[in-house]
Parts: sequence; C-alpha cells; structure tokens
Amino acid sequence: MQGTTELREKLATACRLLYMEGLMDHAGLAGARIPETGNLLLNPREMRGTPGRHPGIMTAGDFVVVDPEGAKIEGENNPPSETPIFTGVFRARADAMAVFHLHLPTATLFSIVGTPLRPVGVMGSPFGRAVPVCPDATLIQRREQGEAVARALGQNLAVLLQGHGAVIVGGSIEEAFVAAILLEDNAVFQYRERDRNAQSHEGRRAASSAKAGLAAESDLEDVALLPYEGPVHGNSYGIVEPPSYSSCRGPAGPRFERCNRMAPLNSSSNQSWPRSFPNRSSAI
Ligand SMILES: [Zn+2]
Repeated sequence: MQGTTELREKLATACRLLYMEGLMDHAGLAGARIPETGNLLLNPREMRGTPGRHPGIMTAGDFVVVDPEGAKIEGENNPPSETPIFTGVFRARADAMAVFHLHLPTATLFSIVGTPLRPVGVMGSPFGRAVPVCPDATLIQRREQGEAVARALGQNLAVLLQGHGAVIVGGSIEEAFVAAILLEDNAVFQYRERDRNAQSHEGRRAASSAKAGLAAESDLEDVALLPYEGPVHGNSYGIVEPPSYSSCRGPAGPRFERCNRMAPLNSSSNQSWPRSFPNRSSAI
C-alpha cells in the first residue's frame, strides 16, 4: 500500500479535525504527496460502498492513490471529481506536500461579495496583502481548470475559488492544517470587524439625530458602541467571542463537538470552549 501508515493516519486525522473545526464539509478534500513515489493520497469520491464521504469518520484505509496526472493507482474507492485541483497544484508547487480544498464558510464569502480578504491581525499575516481569487466559479474537474487554480495561487499559501471555497497548501499536512485554521479565523475577524464598524456607524447616525447635531465628538464615540449587543472584550479587531460548539453525533456513533465560528455574538447562547478540545498545535 502506497503512503506510509503515518502519512495516511495523519491525513485522516486532519480530515476529522477539520470537520470538527467546521472547516471541512462532506465535499471537502485533502491530499498529500507521497514522498517515496511522487504520487498523491486523496480523499475518495465514495466511501465504504456508499456514494459520498464523511470527513468526520475518515480513516487511513479510505484514501485513494493517484499518479501526478490523476490516474488511479490504488484504493478501493475512486478519486474525487475535483482531482485536477490537486494534480494542478502539486505539479506547479514542488514545495507543497499537502493541499486542502475546503469550502470555508466565512473566507468564501469574501470571494462572493468581491471584498479582498486581507490580513487584519497576526492570524492573517502568512497570506500576504490579500488572498488571491481564482474567478472560475464552477467545479474544478478538468486539467486546464486545475492549472488555472495553480496559476491564481502562484507562490501564495492559499487561493479562493470564486463562490466556491479555498485551496490551501503546506510543506506538510500540519502546515496546511494550521494555514486552514488561520485563513478562516482571519476571515471571521475581518467579517466581524466590518460588522462592528457598520453597527458603530449606525450608532453615530442615531446619536446625531437624537441630539440634533449638538453632540460633541467624544459623546458620539461613547454612544456609537451602545447598539453593539453582546460582550465586547478582546482586541481592536472586534474579536469578542470564542467559537461556540454544538453537539453532534457522527455516523460511527461517538459523540463529539463541532465548531461554529459564526455563531451569533450573543451572551445568552451558551458559548464555551470545551476543555476536551484538542490543542491545535499538537493535535496532529
Ligand atoms: Zn469544491
């Protein structure tokens, strides 16, 4: 079997953790280059005799091996339809040992509304001045599409696919995993910063109307924050709450928690960090 047990288990663990983090849905994909052969280990198109796959229960034996052109070499399952993403990016980036294709819920929004996704804090600093966007809004199923994704990615760590998701690369599975977390977290921060600014702007307008233009600027600054509901702590980016977790039960039965980064900023919504949640930096 191609791909060491360690590599396969690490990729499977990444899938499960990305699912728990709310970053990999059923259509999300993860791939790793097999150093010994140059072939690719990919999520399967189907899993254990059923159509589709579930990243929350991915195991080392579920992956399929394809050659650098995408032809299946090994595995009970078929390669995913978006294999050209991986063949295109791995061909273009000799430094990449892992590639994730994730339909990140918040980062993807920026490709839809046309707002550049920029580093708004240290979380976003690895991504350059703005995350590039590949304008192809369809499924990436042909070789030339995969090559276009690779061109849009360039030497960056990530590229957004218009209205679709993101492609993230790493020199290892761990690097790509951390980059995926940072990309989505930065997007949440930027989203909430804009949301907070918009609400502050509304507050200023309301205060201006109420005081008929007589308020001093310092008064308005105080009033401006009032309409913002929920506790405000954290830093100047408006990052005010840790993600919430909702209980869910995977098909295999074990109970685990799944992250929801975009839960409403509402102090009554039972948000908390579960103590059992794995430390991201040492989880895989
Ligand atoms: Zn996709």
